Amino acid sequence: MSIIVHKYGGTSMGSVERIKNVARRVAKWHAAGHQIVVVPSAMSGETNRLLGLARELSPMPDGRELDMIAATGEQASSGLLALALQAEGLKARSYAGWQVPIHTDSAYTKARIKSIDDARIRADLDAGCVVVVTGFQGVDDAGHITTLGRGGSDTSAVAVAAALKADECLIFTDVDGVYTTDPRVEPDARRLTVISFEEMLEMASLGSKVLQIRSVEFAGKYRVPTRVLSSLTDPNMPLDEEMKSGTLVTFEEDEKMEAAVVSGIAFSRDEAKITLLGVPDKPGVAYAILGKVADANIDVDMIVQNQSVSGTTDFSFTVNRTEFARTLELLNSTIVPAVGAREVSSDDKVAKVSIVGIGMRSHAGVASLMFRTLAEEGINIHMISTSEIKTSVVISDKYMELAVRALHKAFGLETAPVTKV
Ligand code: ADP
Ligand code: ASP
Ligand code: MG
Repeated sequence: MSIIVHKYGGTSMGSVERIKNVARRVAKWHAAGHQIVVVPSAMSGETNRLLGLARELSPMPDGRELDMIAATGEQASSGLLALALQAEGLKARSYAGWQVPIHTDSAYTKARIKSIDDARIRADLDAGCVVVVTGFQGVDDAGHITTLGRGGSDTSAVAVAAALKADECLIFTDVDGVYTTDPRVEPDARRLTVISFEEMLEMASLGSKVLQIRSVEFAGKYRVPTRVLSSLTDPNMPLDEEMKSGTLVTFEEDEKMEAAVVSGIAFSRDEAKITLLGVPDKPGVAYAILGKVADANIDVDMIVQNQSVSGTTDFSFTVNRTEFARTLELLNSTIVPAVGAREVSSDDKVAKVSIVGIGMRSHAGVASLMFRTLAEEGINIHMISTSEIKTSVVISDKYMELAVRALHKAFGLETAPVTKV
């Protein structure tokens, strides 16, 4: 008997009919003799609705209260799913994060899972129950409800699978796997049958929201076999067919995968760029700027410092667009007066586009094809950053979709044999 964790996203849980379909699919897996834990998200649109209500009442809402509010979406969908499972004739029980408990730190709205107590889940599984555990939420040491950041139900599911040493974690969503890029932006995007863990990690961290980055980190750390697949297929499709569908995140790189230089294109609109012009070029300046930003719990992504001209330099960095106003405020109120800068310029209409592939390690000229393609489209590059298996550029966000499509074509992703069949 295997333990399998299923995760269903917002669209998959989006209506009573869809919830019934989830219950039918789970019933099929249970009938095949597996022990099933299901981790649902809030019904689609619900988290946005709840956070929108909060923002109507407060422009800078308190994180603890935001989590208190947002976590209700998953609580409702978990209870509804348990009812649907019972209607299928199964024994089913739902738990909120604090009831399991899923212990997290206290970083409200972006908490990290520290540990999961699996005793209650195991006892229910052993008693023949399907266990439903809320996605997205946990509880901190003081007993306060926390949430794991947008898209966090993926992480709940993989973490529960890791705690239970589950045989597989199946992430059911509204696409049938991981594609060479978001199929909503490039209709010619191709589904990958397998993707290496490292590539998935890069794709997720560079903006592909099909899996939350922390879920991929958990999958890697605990070697959880994780598959992304569609919840919109016939729930009664044969189990062996379903087990082979979608995209498997693999921890082994095979020869065919290495043959692909670039296997995917990720993008993110959530970027904002800030430049301090005319900063003194002396030791400690980068720390004086970025240390304060880090102290405010703001994550900095790309950083570029220009060559010094007559003792001063320009210093640019990017932050998530949601942190833009707070970062500018911090710069103007404390950092610029302390460091001294001629001017602060900023742009929150930028996007990041990245090419990702483990094959880039052993192939030269990949970045130059990227730059040539963007040049041919007349797209200006603001910033560049590279690592062994990715190259990212920051560009004006109005060109983002054009850039993604042009790069997808330039690297032959619609046809290249990226993975084994
Ligand atoms: P869920 O609600 O199931 O968690 P999400 O909306 O969070 O679903 O993630 C699925 C979406 O991710 C897809 O609908 C697709 O638009 C987007 N996406 C972005 N990049 C990719 C990619 N490379 N492959 C597949 N889907 C992607
Ligand atoms: N409901 C949460 C969100 O919308 C978590 C999730 O869907 O994974 O971000
Ligand atoms: Mg998601």
